[in-house]
Amino acid sequence: MARSRGSYYSALKRINKVANSAFGLRKTCNSIARSTARAMQANGCRIMSLNSQKEYLITVGTYGLSDLYLKKGPLAARRSLPEILQGKAVFIADATTDEKVQHPEIALAQGISSILGVPILRKGEAIGEIRVYTRERHEFSEADKSFLFSVADMCAVIFERAELHQLVERDYKADMRRRRMPEVVPTPATTLRTTAFAHPSEEDFARLLDFYCIEWLYEPRSFPLRWDRDKIAEMFTPDFYLPELDIYVELTTLKQSLITEKNRKLRQLRELYPEVDIRLLTKSDFLKLLAKYGYGPLGGAKVEGIDRVLYSHAQIQRRVRTLARRISRDYAGQRLVLIGILKGVVCFMADLMQHLDLPVTVDFMAISYYGGDGQVVKITRDLDSSITGQHVLMIEDIVDTGMTLNYVLGHLNAHGPESLRVCTLLDKRARRLIRVPLDYVGFEVPDEFVVGYGLDYRGEYRNLPFIGILEPEIIEG
Ligand code: 5GP
Repeated sequence: MARSRGSYYSALKRINKVANSAFGLRKTCNSIARSTARAMQANGCRIMSLNSQKEYLITVGTYGLSDLYLKKGPLAARRSLPEILQGKAVFIADATTDEKVQHPEIALAQGISSILGVPILRKGEAIGEIRVYTRERHEFSEADKSFLFSVADMCAVIFERAELHQLVERDYKADMRRRRMPEVVPTPATTLRTTAFAHPSEEDFARLLDFYCIEWLYEPRSFPLRWDRDKIAEMFTPDFYLPELDIYVELTTLKQSLITEKNRKLRQLRELYPEVDIRLLTKSDFLKLLAKYGYGPLGGAKVEGIDRVLYSHAQIQRRVRTLARRISRDYAGQRLVLIGILKGVVCFMADLMQHLDLPVTVDFMAISYYGGDGQVVKITRDLDSSITGQHVLMIEDIVDTGMTLNYVLGHLNAHGPESLRVCTLLDKRARRLIRVPLDYVGFEVPDEFVVGYGLDYRGEYRNLPFIGILEPEIIEG
């Protein structure tokens, strides 16, 4: 695996160009990770930023890594290759046996052998880390290390610029708040095992996030909401922060009628901190979320009738033809791989592909759902063919919280497709928790549990030719 100086030179040129582009931090870092891995002929690369307290590493850019490897909890900085924090490069020949590796079982499952990591340094102090991964056991040369250090230097400049940008914005906003905002103190990263939750539903939610390999921190930050002279008179501490997605989530188990006060606080928080993305999950949202997986008080209902039809067979067919026309136009002259997740997508996929005026191939995946045997989501059926370098269109039946799609997109992206877009028949936008890109949407549906045209309730109703809403007593028990 000898690399020429030329390939490193052109990679650095490419990286320089991206570093100077107008892309946001994540897009810039993803692109740098891709150029770095390709130049080093490595299978994956990950760029991480250290939080200000130097407690945990947050992934800001990746290439070629499976979602599972990326999201198995925040990496505790002091346990994860601590030499890097001291400014040294670290080489691991076999990640499956080396005790320095925090998740060797995942390295094994993902077929990762060797890792080379170097610190991202500012004024001699580690502010992040860049790692490359290879599937084959591999010794890195001095030239490899020196290339990776150069990329790390570039990342330091990019991080600094992103921070500066944030600081300027924050200063401006602080000014707008009449310079009254005191310093907010983040508390350390937490895990399910060590966290004392205030309420059992929070633990249930943390378990669900763990299942989908979504990093979370419990009550990591308090936001002052009201001041009395120079003292904070009121604070608000959201229950969860999802660092990779930069979203706060507040769970409320109060009855709908009693959440006015909480809503007031959230409104105030959004006004004072417009850069903060916070979602409220009410008791009924949460119970519906659990019921979807057959859990909680709403989960044990019996299957019976349909309350009303939301979209008739004819309406669905018309919309599917329109979507197919748009997709055929957008991909004209290209080959397309359609990927669906079993089983809900079967009707939509079958109809859509018949109307596509393109050369297409079709592949399917299946994933485990929350409440099965596993602790984290698993791909129970993977793709038959490689999608590397292909134009891929992910076909979904319905996107609800976005957790499933977020996981699957991470998995597909790790295989390096030429492009990856999403087409969903139904978009239950009102319940979205995680921002996921939707390129083609059939219908936006209300916050109700829908069945038919492939969609099931506990295994039944998939064969209905229309999309309908179940009788309320079925879902509400
Ligand atoms: P998400 O991960 O976006 O919350 O959920 C996506 C999955 O949940 C879908 O693929 C589907 O299996 C299921 N789901 C979400 N909402 C509904 C619904 O209204 N009806 C049915 N039958 N399944 C749903």
